[in-house]
Amino acid sequence: MTKNAPTIMWFRDDLRLADNPALSDAAATGPVICLYVHDPAFPSGGAERWWLHGALAALDQDLQARGGRLCIMAGPTQPCVLWLAQQVGAGAVVWNRRYGGPARQVDADIKTALRTMGLQARSHPGNMLHEPWQVRTRQGTSFRVYTPWWRAVQAMGPPPPPVPVPATLAFAPIAPHIAERLETPAGLDLLPARPDWAQGLRETWQPGERAAHERLDHFLSERLAGYARLRDLPGQPATSGLSPHLRFGHVSPRQIWHAVMARGAPDADGTCFLGEVGWRDFAHATLFDCPDMATRSLRPEYDAMPWRTDPVGLRAWQQGRTGYPIVDAGMRELWHTGWMHNRVRMIVASFLTKHLLLDWRAGERWFADTLVDADAASNAFNWQWVAGCGLDAAPYFRIFNPVLQGEKFDPAGDYVRRWVPEIAHLDGKTIHAPWKMATGAPRGYPPCIVDLAGGRARALDAWKNAVKA
Ligand SMILES: Cc1cc2nc3c(=O)[nH]c(=O)nc-3n(C[C@H](O)[C@H](O)[C@H](O)COP(=O)(O)OP(=O)(O)OC[C@H]3O[C@@H](n4cnc5c(N)ncnc54)[C@H](O)[C@@H]3O)c2cc1C
Repeated sequence: MTKNAPTIMWFRDDLRLADNPALSDAAATGPVICLYVHDPAFPSGGAERWWLHGALAALDQDLQARGGRLCIMAGPTQPCVLWLAQQVGAGAVVWNRRYGGPARQVDADIKTALRTMGLQARSHPGNMLHEPWQVRTRQGTSFRVYTPWWRAVQAMGPPPPPVPVPATLAFAPIAPHIAERLETPAGLDLLPARPDWAQGLRETWQPGERAAHERLDHFLSERLAGYARLRDLPGQPATSGLSPHLRFGHVSPRQIWHAVMARGAPDADGTCFLGEVGWRDFAHATLFDCPDMATRSLRPEYDAMPWRTDPVGLRAWQQGRTGYPIVDAGMRELWHTGWMHNRVRMIVASFLTKHLLLDWRAGERWFADTLVDADAASNAFNWQWVAGCGLDAAPYFRIFNPVLQGEKFDPAGDYVRRWVPEIAHLDGKTIHAPWKMATGAPRGYPPCIVDLAGGRARALDAWKNAVKA
């Protein structure tokens, strides 16, 4: 290794400069080259791709403001990383860890290849409160239930404090023949062409590290007080909206943790909020232990579920045309903004897997394509949780009644009114069951695609038999 050889900082799900342990390592070692590889072997959903475009552009801007740039490459990951390392005469490649099965395999293979080439490869903990293997039962096994896992996390004390943006960040020059092979965010073709369905995403979100911290600051000063009481009400702007920023690593969970703590010992709201951030770690720890979580039930006895095939029902659910207002509102919010309130995610997931008896994997795939926060761990984990086949899951016989859920969590009907204009003129009492009006549901609003009592009985039967089988 030559003296002053550059270190490649390989960005992945950590598109930020602050609290980026791998970047701090690279900056302390010598001149830095910042790399992002867009690999078609890791397909991402349409909404995620939209976000990634903005996220790469924002990171590139932040690096340019410090005299550097983001080197974006497109292609299979390993050849890209190795080619760049060779071309720039790198001494090391550094990154923050990922936890999904295929990604870990890629990272392990690259580590071996780099070491074979005589280069250093160093990985860091940058995306979780704690590494999955650090939180274990007394017997050394992984936790399968959230509450004792969270207790164990709290007993470990605070996660390490976040590290600042490196004070000095010297960038290695990029030779013209290398620059020629690099892409721009626009060159990756991440944005929708025609039709341009991203208008709602543009209106709702600003990807990037600066926007993430503005959102966090705003949440802490304006919304944290009241979070525990209001977070379940989709008509209230009560939650942080940080999920896509966490997904792309514009902000780290450690930064969030310490920002909450900096306000003093957390009260019920702070404790509740950190507990939710904890679910994200738990989902990733579960993915680490069960790499096929997106395709196989965590409780194998449910793999025999007699799921129905119903493309028409699935389409109605996707389009928000089921005839159940809170379900339709959620699915339309998702389509327009790329995000859906957590309570409503649970309601629509229960409706799909219970009342329609459709495979949770179909729902998971639709969410993966339409959510800006689509996350291999949190998405599959929560779908399995709602369906009843996951870890620490809601029991299969807990079936959300969408009318009662709407009445309870959207009592004035504000949330439904915002997303379902056909029934926006109805009062809070009738808006969740418009078919009960003497005149029937307003014209233009779809009829119910399933009878609630019938769908519930069918689901209970199917789930009960699957457990017995
Ligand atoms: C069927 C289903 C699918 C989901 N898919 C995803 C997904 O793909 N990506 C995703 O980030 N979240 C997913 N969630 C979890 C949750 O709905 C979102 O994290 C939350 O709505 C994001 O909004 P927020 O940032 O305002 O949350 P806040 O209430 O402000 O919570 C703060 C952070 O805690 C984390 N968090 C909160 N609840 C959960 C949870 N149940 N599981 C994991 N992390 C959580 C998120 O990172 C969130 O940003 C899913 C939930 C369900 C029921």
